[in-house]
Amino acid sequence: MRILITGGAGFIGSHLCERFLSQGHEVVCLDNFITGCRQNIQPFSSNPSFSLIEHDISVPYFPSEPIDYVLHFASLASPPDYLKYPIPTLKAGSLGTLNALGMAKAFKAKFLLASTSEVYGDPLVHPQPESYWGHVNCVGPRGVYDESKRMAEALACAYHREHGVDTRVVRIFNTYGPRMKSNDGRAVPNFIAQALAGQPLTLYGDGTQTRSFCYIDDLLEGIERLMQADFYDPVNLGNPVEISLLTLAQTILKLTRSKSAMALKPLPTDDPKRRRPDISLAKRLLGWEPRVPLEEGLTKTIESFKV
Ligand code: UDP
Repeated sequence: MRILITGGAGFIGSHLCERFLSQGHEVVCLDNFITGCRQNIQPFSSNPSFSLIEHDISVPYFPSEPIDYVLHFASLASPPDYLKYPIPTLKAGSLGTLNALGMAKAFKAKFLLASTSEVYGDPLVHPQPESYWGHVNCVGPRGVYDESKRMAEALACAYHREHGVDTRVVRIFNTYGPRMKSNDGRAVPNFIAQALAGQPLTLYGDGTQTRSFCYIDDLLEGIERLMQADFYDPVNLGNPVEISLLTLAQTILKLTRSKSAMALKPLPTDDPKRRRPDISLAKRLLGWEPRVPLEEGLTKTIESFKV
């Protein structure tokens, strides 16, 4: 296949590029490097089956050669990034999705949207099944990301219904692993970078808020299975093991053997209090569930941060 990945130089996008190249596919990586990183694509950039197009997908793009699959991963997915770039975030989810869907339609390509657990906002239902409509503050600072992804899902569904585009929607819950930027601002890379540097770990709030952390390899496997499934409604992919942020920080201190202290900082506005995916649908539909335990995934991530 010839696979086009928007955001292919990002954390998840670059892992997808690498996976498809290793399977013998041709990969076109489209990225404007607002948060993507050239280092992420460096390991395979000289592969003749790989090509890079520097382009902002919120502006239409017309590939010169046919495409079989479009994966739309271009997005500013880290809270500090979307707070810093609210309008590019809105554009990547809305206009970017529209343009990526237009490409899929023009080439009769399949399409997969990288959506997010943020469509559930600060959820009132726990754990979150796909049938939950969410609890989002559309005018709050996180609204730019949440609402752009909700619009993206609406667009994917409309293109499927109106134009018969063969769409998939994956709702990705907190995922971590090598290639996250140490200054990305999310909890896992922040804590690891701080622990390794002997700096205090910045714990927001009292650390009782929860997340459920999925290792990148598990997510990639789920995405590939969904690409091959015949299913158009959104599917949650994430690790259902829920922990508090305080426990995450303590685990990272233990694994890095760091003596860093913890520095309590204010909880960001609208920060979700609890998050855990209900993955019954992915289990049933894809025969998928995460395999990598947290400490194993964190150890691999910590090693990658040391080099
Ligand atoms: N967080 C934290 N310290 C940090 C970064 C994040 O305590 O240095 C908290 C954040 O407030 C949230 C959780 O960790 O409750 C997960 O945040 P992250 O930015 O990783 O992703 P989110 O799930 O909020 O999109």
